[in-house]
Amino acid sequence: MFVRCPAKAPPTGYRVAVVGAGPAGLALAGELACRGHEVHVFDRLPEPGGMLVFVIPSFRFRKDVVRKSIGDLEKLGVEFHAGVDVGLHLRVGDLLKSYDAVVVATGTWRSAKLGVKGEELPGVYYALEWLHSRALHELGYGPPPPAPGSRVVVVGGGLSAVDACETLARLYGIKPVLVYRRPLSVAPAARELAILRERGLIEVVESALPLEVVGSERVEGLRVASVKPTRTRAEALEIVPGSERVIEADTVIVATGLHPTPPPSLAELGVEVAPDGRIVTDGNFMTSVPGLFAAGDVALGASNVHRAMESGRRAALGVDAYLRERR
Ligand SMILES: Cc1cc2nc3c(=O)[nH]c(=O)nc-3n(C[C@H](O)[C@H](O)[C@H](O)COP(=O)(O)OP(=O)(O)OC[C@H]3O[C@@H](n4cnc5c(N)ncnc54)[C@H](O)[C@@H]3O)c2cc1C
Repeated sequence: MFVRCPAKAPPTGYRVAVVGAGPAGLALAGELACRGHEVHVFDRLPEPGGMLVFVIPSFRFRKDVVRKSIGDLEKLGVEFHAGVDVGLHLRVGDLLKSYDAVVVATGTWRSAKLGVKGEELPGVYYALEWLHSRALHELGYGPPPPAPGSRVVVVGGGLSAVDACETLARLYGIKPVLVYRRPLSVAPAARELAILRERGLIEVVESALPLEVVGSERVEGLRVASVKPTRTRAEALEIVPGSERVIEADTVIVATGLHPTPPPSLAELGVEVAPDGRIVTDGNFMTSVPGLFAAGDVALGASNVHRAMESGRRAALGVDAYLRERR
């Protein structure tokens, strides 16, 4: 998974720090270690794996397989520093002074808000935080996540919504109502959601725009309005007059997007960051600061495990070329 070479190349003498042990950082670490570089991976969580271990449910990716591949990285000489928050415990600038290159692969750990009235009511959760606390609990690192009620609405159309729905169905025996603001056929995870619908695991309310989380002391429902179906995700939404209604619910799980989360200490280095939070890089994955690279979802925006790993591997080639040019 993360190691693709039969044996390590002779040591180059170069040292690389990687911030973030998710699939992008791990694939990158494997590629760099194979090329003979000394690699140190820092992560604020108690063990490596990123969302693969700490968010995505184990029925999707087996954690023992991920952990075995992390063991292969260790055998190759990659050193892991768990429980280190870069920004809090040390800064990217410190790493740049002690390593020949630094790669930031910190992912997208901030949930997009629904942006409607009532969102702060008890009973509203965000898929990322809810699945993260489930994973922490399953791994023995934290208390159980809040138990969902019996009538659950999941809002969204991406992989987070898929995993939230399937977790509710498989682990709690709940059939959630999935609300998506466009036709399901144009959702980012259209195929996966269609399968859940075919298997009778979810009820789908499509082309429905959330307007308000309804309730006095906690969630009692989600007010939605129908919108005219669109053929793409780019088209503007047009509400159908008189179509407002309330879907009864005691729990709302919001899965409407994720924002990139670069370490806060990047700002002091003058690294270029796009308005949506993505770290801007050149064709070799290098940021506006020489020797500082970015890979995975913090540079791509929210994607998937395959794309994040691919980005990590390609960034490793950029780092390798940068180091070799310094000889
Ligand atoms: C709820 C949910 C469900 C998903 N389901 C799927 C799915 O079924 N299939 C699929 O392919 N993809 C899925 N994805 C997407 C997939 O998880 C991501 O695309 C992928 O994990 C991105 O990899 P990454 O390495 O860029 O970031 P991450 O996996 O997020 O790893 C980043 C790492 O950086 C660490 N970090 C962050 N900030 C700091 C800091 N300041 N200091 C130190 N460490 C830091 C984090 O702890 C984390 O370990 C899902 C995402 C979510 C949120």
